[in-house]
Amino acid sequence: MSILHKFATLGLSGPTYISTDLSSYQQQMAEIHECHRKTANFTNEKLKDYMAELRAQARSGTPLSQLLAPTFGLVKEACIRQLQVSPFDLQLLAAIPLHERKLVEMQTGEGKTLSAVFAAALNALSGEGVHILTFNDYLAKRDAEWMGPIYTSLGMTVGYIANGMSRQQKQAAYACDITYATAKEVGFDFLRSYLAFEKEEQILQPFHFAIVDEADAILIDEARNPLVLAGQMGASVVDVKAVAQFVKTLQPQEDYILNESSRAAFLTEKGVESAEKAFGLESLIEEAHFGLHTAINLALQAQTLLTRDVDYLVKNERILLVDEFTGRVVEDRKWRNGLQTAVEAKEGLPIQSEGSILNAISLQHLIQKYPGVAGMTATAQAAAKEFATFYGLQTIVIPPNKTTRRIDYPDLIFADKTSKQAGILAEVKKAHHIGQPILIGALTVKESESLAALFREHDIDCEVLNAKNDEEEARIIADAGRVGAVTISTNMAGRGTDIQLGGKDKSDRKEVIRYGGLYVIGTNRHESVRIDQQLRGRAGRQGDLGQSRFFISLEDDLMVKYKLNDILPKRFQSIEGAAPIIHKKVRKFVGITQHIIESQLLDMRTNLYQYSAFTEKQRIILQSERQRLLEDIHCLSEFFPSLPDIRNATVQQLTLMKTFVLLQYDKYWAQHLDLLSHLREGIHLVRLGGQNPLRTFRQLADACFNQLYSHLENELEPWVKKVMTNEITAIDQMALEKPSSTWTYVINDNPFDDQLAIMLLDSANVGMHVDFVSAPFLFTIAMMRRMRRKKR
Ligand code: ADP
Repeated sequence: MSILHKFATLGLSGPTYISTDLSSYQQQMAEIHECHRKTANFTNEKLKDYMAELRAQARSGTPLSQLLAPTFGLVKEACIRQLQVSPFDLQLLAAIPLHERKLVEMQTGEGKTLSAVFAAALNALSGEGVHILTFNDYLAKRDAEWMGPIYTSLGMTVGYIANGMSRQQKQAAYACDITYATAKEVGFDFLRSYLAFEKEEQILQPFHFAIVDEADAILIDEARNPLVLAGQMGASVVDVKAVAQFVKTLQPQEDYILNESSRAAFLTEKGVESAEKAFGLESLIEEAHFGLHTAINLALQAQTLLTRDVDYLVKNERILLVDEFTGRVVEDRKWRNGLQTAVEAKEGLPIQSEGSILNAISLQHLIQKYPGVAGMTATAQAAAKEFATFYGLQTIVIPPNKTTRRIDYPDLIFADKTSKQAGILAEVKKAHHIGQPILIGALTVKESESLAALFREHDIDCEVLNAKNDEEEARIIADAGRVGAVTISTNMAGRGTDIQLGGKDKSDRKEVIRYGGLYVIGTNRHESVRIDQQLRGRAGRQGDLGQSRFFISLEDDLMVKYKLNDILPKRFQSIEGAAPIIHKKVRKFVGITQHIIESQLLDMRTNLYQYSAFTEKQRIILQSERQRLLEDIHCLSEFFPSLPDIRNATVQQLTLMKTFVLLQYDKYWAQHLDLLSHLREGIHLVRLGGQNPLRTFRQLADACFNQLYSHLENELEPWVKKVMTNEITAIDQMALEKPSSTWTYVINDNPFDDQLAIMLLDSANVGMHVDFVSAPFLFTIAMMRRMRRKKR
């Protein structure tokens, strides 16, 4: 469904994205309480039997809405017995909109984990599995084990998925009524399932209903990073090491043009000539040299635009990406194929990331495969429009059980970073002196470390959280509320552990309350208000006291990147001094900058979605055919209507044909993905010819897809005939191989993608890029020529 269509069918507009009216749930709440009262004197056995009865009713077609009250009543009773916790009414109430496939906003620490259990149990009655999608593996395991006794005492099965489990373990976990897993791992399993050669190899059951925890982090912030399944498909044809050496000899301005502000580097005509000379070619722009040409462009980007220890680290002979946004090293991420290899070559490391992308899907498209999706997060309202547009989800706001008593102080704005750090130090000293726990949300690893060093110089002990060890993180976060604790953390989003005042055991609670509760300090505004709120929300949980304040400088990366200075009135542009700037106007402009960034990012996500949605449609077409063949070998005759003899083929022949056809589908799909990614990278240049890039992309992608089908038709039939005549009796006679190994990763936001997206959006920028178009422009033209030739 197109996003616009989805939008129209929902009839959601303006404030109807968000609802705060809970009155319609009162009747259901009364029924739940009534049902719960009835179960209070049931034996445990009887609770289970009653649940079995409800399941039988659901399976014989009773609508779930009619089973909601008795199920919720039962789950409530099981929760009291198993966890010795009585769910709050608001937790029960929040579960109703979850069941209605809505996005529920509930503050941090209000108990979303338990709310989800009610909606999950109800939706699992029909026998189809429910997935609860968590932010990381640690939370999947923790929540499955924590909530497990509720489900199992009612006769339901529960499992969790973790990276590295065997296929059998995963199949067992997915076969449960309720499965806790990260969206990412489900995505990888989805991709793996589509490369299976036998039905039994497929890990996943058909999708039914998903409840997404930390929904904004998963559905918005992480949504557009493609999940990738890659495989080794034979040796590469381009010598990337030689290419890296060659690129090192090139001269800026002469051989290539570098524009750092737009993060772009392109060969000039002279650069192209140098390449032709170095590699002994007549013309680099020839179709035969596409691979080399792409490798040179990538090597140039790797050489000139990516910096060691800033964009990436080298550790154990591997490239580790540093997430620009959170400053964390992101272990399972890579740049798109080719760029990662180019960086490995630049650093003289063993080439590890060669191989082809065999299949890819974005989280956004993955989530859309669930017939039912609901979500929960503490910060939904700020993203309500996006939830409605992309996922058709209406946001419903559940008030906190007890109103928060957090004080959000206005931002303190400084002229430069040094003054800001001094301001933070002074504030931390003041609060630390009395023993108030402080949580500092830093933007980058570098910043977290420089703050920690500064604090230690002043004898302030602190914990720094910027590494990736979810379990350790959970422990540190859980104790960040102790008397005198100072915790500096990057990326608080998605750290699903709540901070209890007085520590995990609450032993210092009274004392901490006397000092004013947890004090959250933000060291930068983020790219969206929503992420600022996530940080603030760590203080003031369940009606606790708390405080929050952001410290900002006009030199902050965000302000520089998005040119705050250009929109500030002249008289503020050269402010100096260590004291905070108190002009209201400056604060207002910081706010405006953030709004501009938010809407630009939203436009970008929408735009990129339109590109990927097209590819996704093609994937669905191809893979549904593949799946059909996987499930029913006899449908081969439909694939080859001109070969009626197939009906008489032996099982052995059919199996061979099936494997062959499946492999061909995979091979051509991988080639297609590769072609589309080149196309997309060059496509903004068609603007120069006055054309619309999205439309052109679609036309070309369409042509490529038709081409893919004609290749399939041309190649499949002769081989299948040979199988029929027993000329071929084994797969290794077919010049095809299964990937020798496969691996998965997330493509990190392409470091140059933002720039690309802005170019695609903003036609006014085109003039700027005319300077250094030579190589990619020619590349695109050549690509188009190639398409045209193929079409003929
Ligand atoms: P959230 O995900 O909304 O931030 P959690 O599900 O992690 O919150 O729960 C926060 C804390 O509240 C947990 O320590 C949990 O044990 C506690 N909690 C949840 N529900 C209740 C309840 N009904 N009564 C008492 N404590 C609860």
